[in-house]
Amino acid sequence: MTGLELRGVTVTYPGHPPVTAVRDVSMTVEAGEIVALVGPSGCGKSSLLGAIAGVVQCTGLVMWDGEDVSTTPVHVRGFGLVFQDGALFPHRTVAGNVAFGLEMAGMPRAERRARVAEFLELVRLPGYGARRITELSGGERQRVALARSLAPHPRLLLLDEPLSSLDAELREALAAEVRDILLATGTTAIVVTHDRAEAAAMSSQIFTMRDGRLLP
Ligand code: ADP
Ligand code: MG
Repeated sequence: MTGLELRGVTVTYPGHPPVTAVRDVSMTVEAGEIVALVGPSGCGKSSLLGAIAGVVQCTGLVMWDGEDVSTTPVHVRGFGLVFQDGALFPHRTVAGNVAFGLEMAGMPRAERRARVAEFLELVRLPGYGARRITELSGGERQRVALARSLAPHPRLLLLDEPLSSLDAELREALAAEVRDILLATGTTAIVVTHDRAEAAAMSSQIFTMRDGRLLP
């Protein structure tokens, strides 16, 4: 199975004048591979992830396993997104957050409960299910966000600066944990970071972006 392949992906935001955030990006990520995407703020990293996920309009081809998914709706692509601040639902418990994607997919309650427990175990938060989001540390929140995005078994996980809101020490520890979890679940992933050391620690390949383009 081949993983993700992008051909000539371009993102232009409409406006006066329009802003071209991603220019003619082509890249391949093998199935099961973790790659990093680095580059200065504003170079187009989030726009590229958005285009891959389908939440940002683009031209060019987004392919998974040789099949064009450019026009496939977001929820059918089977790609997960993790943001910098985790973007957890504050009114839901930890378990409620992890169960979210499973509910959307119509998974029966008993199966859902088992899957939630499995993924809380995986991110080393067993027994945290009933906790409120406000009762968690920053690192715990990011691990809940990771469990939530991994629980529905995404084909591809897109992580947009998932650790940058954390302090340096925690970031380093969690970078290794996240990598191990992705490897253990065989998840193909693109991790955006502006930290080269973090990129090197987490990925097998680093792509560098500048002004909307991938550097050769
Ligand atoms: P990065 O994630 O690397 O910091 P972004 O993809 O967020 O970069 O932004 C790339 C460029 O696109 C920037 O110039 C930014 O101002 C612009 N941009 C991002 N989102 C939008 C939007 N929704 N509408 C218009 N311009 C945007
Ligand atoms: Mg960004």
